[in-house]
Amino acid sequence: MGGLGRVGWLGRMGAAAQGAGMRLLDLILPPRCLGCGEAVAAAGTLCGTCWRGVTFITAPQCAGCGRPFPHDMGDGALCAICVAAPLAFGRLRAAVLYDDASRPLILGFKHGDRTEAAPLLASWMARAGADLLAEADVIAPVPLHRWRLFARRYNQAALLALRLGRLTGVGAVPDLLVRRRRTPSQGSLSRQGRARNVAGAFALRPGRPVAGLRVVLVDDVYTTGATAAECARVLTRAGAVRVDVLALARVLKEEMI
Ligand SMILES: [Zn+2]
Ligand SMILES: [Zn+2]
Repeated sequence: MGGLGRVGWLGRMGAAAQGAGMRLLDLILPPRCLGCGEAVAAAGTLCGTCWRGVTFITAPQCAGCGRPFPHDMGDGALCAICVAAPLAFGRLRAAVLYDDASRPLILGFKHGDRTEAAPLLASWMARAGADLLAEADVIAPVPLHRWRLFARRYNQAALLALRLGRLTGVGAVPDLLVRRRRTPSQGSLSRQGRARNVAGAFALRPGRPVAGLRVVLVDDVYTTGATAAECARVLTRAGAVRVDVLALARVLKEEMI
């Protein structure tokens, strides 16, 4: 009886520890900055130096791709790139620039199990994508292939999508899209190579209708947009009336302006 009681107690402890998650860890380890790992006052935050380094993308900006403008160009103004080559989906917004300052934070969240960053990062995205989210019917992440999901144990874009759903009240559907095949990392590929790499890689999960819906697609880092464009194509073909893309960070090369 005593033995059983002890096992039951341990079981409850285990469940409590899992549920409490980071709170329990906080008691054991001092909270660390999500960017550089320096000690900070509270978990899930950045130290002052990392905060100051992050570049937030704010208005005035291109109505299409969200690229920041040096001065206000008026409502609905598009940048030269959007005029020359319109986006393959509705609008794009990203919370921060992907640069030397934000990279450690984002890579730590993506590959380093620093899932406690999700609330802070999603709050940045909710602000950057407020207009998109206000008109959205559903929030969906860019999916990971199941092997990659298995290796990483979580889809960082799905964590952000779920958080955004909670912040905005818009329904988040983490498995709206599935990855049909594994695609090699996009890192070293050209723009054309990236588009070829993801062609046909995504599908709508059966039983998840999107006809007539406005979708906000959530991604972590927006680079050339090949992945977002391919996901948007699948959603649009299935009847989504609008697909906007909300990324945590975006690459913004000066020579692209
Ligand atoms: Zn720091
Ligand atoms: Zn633009």
